[in-house]
Amino acid sequence: KMAQFPFVRELDGFEFDAQPSLDPRQVRDLAECRWVAHGDTILLLGPPGTGKTHLAVALGREAIRRNYSVQFVTAATLVAMLAKAHADGALDKQLALLSRPKLLIIDELGYLPFEANAAHLFFQLVSRRYERGSILLTSNRSVGEWGEVFGDPVVATAILDRLLHHSTVITIRGDSYRLREKRRSGLLQ
Ligand code: ADP
Ligand code: MG
Repeated sequence: KMAQFPFVRELDGFEFDAQPSLDPRQVRDLAECRWVAHGDTILLLGPPGTGKTHLAVALGREAIRRNYSVQFVTAATLVAMLAKAHADGALDKQLALLSRPKLLIIDELGYLPFEANAAHLFFQLVSRRYERGSILLTSNRSVGEWGEVFGDPVVATAILDRLLHHSTVITIRGDSYRLREKRRSGLLQ
């Protein structure tokens, strides 16, 4: 399979009690993957360690179970792929490849700021997939901070306009699950 998940996680292994800002019914409903059938977008926002990648992988695996093609990529890798293709005069081919999977999961948007050209390349990808294939995007930054992330408020607005059009935005609040585990085992106060 082409998904290339960073780890194996399932919805079953997700402790909803540890993350009260999430509605378990909403997440289980998303696991039915109707949003993938419709080519809709999910934005999964929240601080580090709150289970964004866990949920992205779990939802991606649900989509694969339902025979949808899924590709998982970090935002940093995606931008590097697009920049290299652009430099090699192969951007169109790369955009076509990245438009093939029914669901493209883009993890960790916002950890690294984009260079100006990267925002534009990202915009082209989002435009290409718009209303055709789903995107599940995770970010530690709120939508209001995306101008900063992309380094260009105008391009950020254009990207958001497309992403938000048919979308579900889930904002996770609360503490890092990793730190919570450490606190429990007495490694942290
Ligand atoms: P994020 O992507 O938001 O930084 P991760 O999804 O990588 O966070 O979560 C960090 C680790 O904690 C992962 O191993 C993940 O499986 C686990 N984890 C996070 N939240 C939960 C939860 N509510 N229940 C079970 N495991 C969780
Ligand atoms: Mg993550």
